[in-house]
Amino acid sequence: MTPPRPSRRAFLGKASLAAASLALQHRPFAADNPPDRKLGIALCGLGNYATGQLAPALRRTRHCELRGVITGSPEKGRQWAREFGFSERNIYSYATMSRLIDNPAIDIVYVVTPNSLHPEHVIAAAWAGKHVICEKPLANTVSECNAMLAACRTNGVRLSVGYRLQFEPHYRELKRLARGGEFGTFSRLTGGLAFTINRRVWRVEKAMAGGGPLMDIGIYCIQAACMAADSTGANHATFAPVAVQAREHPKKRPDFFRDVEEGIDWRMEFAGGAVGEFSTSYNAGMDRFRAEAPKGWIELAPAFQYGDLRVTTSLGAPAVGEIPPSQQAVQIDDFALCVKEGRESPVSGEMGRRDMVIIEAIYKSAAENGRRIEIKV
Ligand code: NAD
Repeated sequence: MTPPRPSRRAFLGKASLAAASLALQHRPFAADNPPDRKLGIALCGLGNYATGQLAPALRRTRHCELRGVITGSPEKGRQWAREFGFSERNIYSYATMSRLIDNPAIDIVYVVTPNSLHPEHVIAAAWAGKHVICEKPLANTVSECNAMLAACRTNGVRLSVGYRLQFEPHYRELKRLARGGEFGTFSRLTGGLAFTINRRVWRVEKAMAGGGPLMDIGIYCIQAACMAADSTGANHATFAPVAVQAREHPKKRPDFFRDVEEGIDWRMEFAGGAVGEFSTSYNAGMDRFRAEAPKGWIELAPAFQYGDLRVTTSLGAPAVGEIPPSQQAVQIDDFALCVKEGRESPVSGEMGRRDMVIIEAIYKSAAENGRRIEIKV
């Protein structure tokens, strides 16, 4: 069944689980693509990450290819069409995204705009009947995540988050060790990610970014901590700490970091007894993650960059197999396969929502003098 014509505002006002389940009965997640057909992807937002990482990754993908763009600049759109060899009919503006509904060449929209625009663009793509990958963080609030998940459910499309490291071989090794590996259960998790921002960009505006470094890069530590503390993998997408505590760093540059944190430290308590202590900042340098268990440890440093991750364990460097040249190509291909095979992505919208639940709790704790905040995903 063709999804209904977009009426996003009406949807945002009236979305309900009942409506979602009714729609599902009519438009089940379909594995209606022959395995040899490459799916078409349209990138929504042609900024640094789309240009520097995702477009080159889409030249390597086996199950999908770049076949369209959604951009505020028609000239840029035509340039991308020439460079990637797709039809100019597949160039859209943010205002004309709803017309994607009439374009069978595009199966997936990859949203790579500033955080505050993710809900609008994901919901527009879902109402155009397209599966969606959204960059991290999924949105700026849990309630926005709820609306995005509901829009995707209602329209029978899949939603995934651009969590590239979930597919990276060193993180596969971390997950293997966490789920019954030779070191025992990880009990102490530490690390951080920080860099210095000197240019005023949307990342330091609360209205656009939702927060400071926690939203942008601290989220990688949250991801790694959940991977390491999750000893069964049974509820992978919703596995979360039971409580958090946090303290914002005193601002050294208050004029620059006007309404977002400059840095923040936080603690995560997991039901199995593991405790994580992490730090993130836009005014420092750090890139490491360590998980310790009774019989051994694993450390990644650098832990979160696009390539050249380094891993050591108490037994030496583990054999993790071949490192793919592009983390993003593996991540995007996995989602294309999920769509083809009609199954949920291991980095689903639910996982993006979980991380926002954790982030909101961290900010709440920091605002309340480090009070312990319980988490309910
Ligand atoms: P960017 O500023 O370089 O690009 C943003 C794009 O959005 C630009 O093309 C801009 O023109 C467009 N845009 C549309 N409407 C806009 C508006 N109202 N204001 C500003 N820009 C607007 O940002 P980026 O670094 O490419 O980040 C985009 C998204 O990708 C963010 O959500 C970010 O967190 C995410 N990201 C993820 C990774 C990763 O490793 N997974 C890395 C970098 C960025």
